[in-house]
Amino acid sequence: MPSRQQQFSDLFPNEPAFRWRQIEQAFFVPTIRSWDGVTSLSKDMRAALAVLPWMTVAADRVMAGASKDTHKALLTLGDGQVIETVLMENARGELTICVSSQVGCAMRCGFCATGRMGLKRSLDADEIIDQYRFWQHFLEDNKHRGGLHSDFSAIPPRISNIVFMGMGEPLANYENVKTALNVLLAQTDLGPTRITVSTVGVLPRLEQMLTDKTWPHVRLAISLHSAIAETRKQIVPTSYDDFLPRLADWARRYLTILGNRRHHLTFEYVMLNGVNDTDDHARALAAFVRSIGNVKCNLIPYNLTDCEFARSEDSRIERFLRILENAEVTATRRRTMGDDIAAACGQLIVLSGKTA
Ligand code: SF4
Repeated sequence: MPSRQQQFSDLFPNEPAFRWRQIEQAFFVPTIRSWDGVTSLSKDMRAALAVLPWMTVAADRVMAGASKDTHKALLTLGDGQVIETVLMENARGELTICVSSQVGCAMRCGFCATGRMGLKRSLDADEIIDQYRFWQHFLEDNKHRGGLHSDFSAIPPRISNIVFMGMGEPLANYENVKTALNVLLAQTDLGPTRITVSTVGVLPRLEQMLTDKTWPHVRLAISLHSAIAETRKQIVPTSYDDFLPRLADWARRYLTILGNRRHHLTFEYVMLNGVNDTDDHARALAAFVRSIGNVKCNLIPYNLTDCEFARSEDSRIERFLRILENAEVTATRRRTMGDDIAAACGQLIVLSGKTA
């Protein structure tokens, strides 16, 4: 399907460029809910634009976690496919959204519910952007109703971070993700350090972004899950024998070009009982990180889906963390949010329109 901007150009080939910018600005005003609300356009133009979708996603269902700090939405796309997106609120009332980049995923990571769906299709840029807009509308509609964890009656709710950690591998949908990132950076108050793209490590695309002048350098998180090739292949079946040395080489060049306090890399590491959580794995991870430089490690307590892996014991995660810290590797443990509504990392799956 052509993008909304393309459809607009087809309908109005002689309009000046600023006209689309006016429309795009209106897209991000949470109180404007239809073309009729874009009063900077003539009445005739608004009527003609009614054939274009104001929103490319429609809420099927929104579920709230018990403490109302996590919400998961099932969104239906124009062709009937369903994706999931998540809103998380931390103790300070800061709001992060997790967006999807594909319907399903082809990467088949062993612990991940989405991987079991297979890849249905990639999202277009409008469908990615509209997940942000969906949450803007949701927050606007719920700020006075007590549906959120924090009280937003004095300070309006504001999305302060976006993570591309929902369904799909963002770098397998490089061009659409790039377009969406550029629009989000232009039309919201978020800077590049407030947006994180999480990837399993698609090396050709990681290489491409080093020289791509139109790729916005938002933060990157690489799903490493093991610094031992054999273990990584067990968890990420699309991994290959020389992946780790090639990733290390890429990461050194990335940090040479972009490395500073604002542009560190993060390695995500899901903790799987008896699989990648031994002392040897911790030492291998420390050595791998130290061979690269300014990389942070984020340990993720595994969220159970019905598969072969189990979550590491808390004491094991703490020991793993201490080994990394003793090796002077910066490491944190991610707080788990939303597991009661299957909204946590690795739990997003849509099967026949139902949430697993
Ligand atoms: S963890 Fe990410 S890359 Fe792996 S299967 Fe799940 S969605 Fe795809």
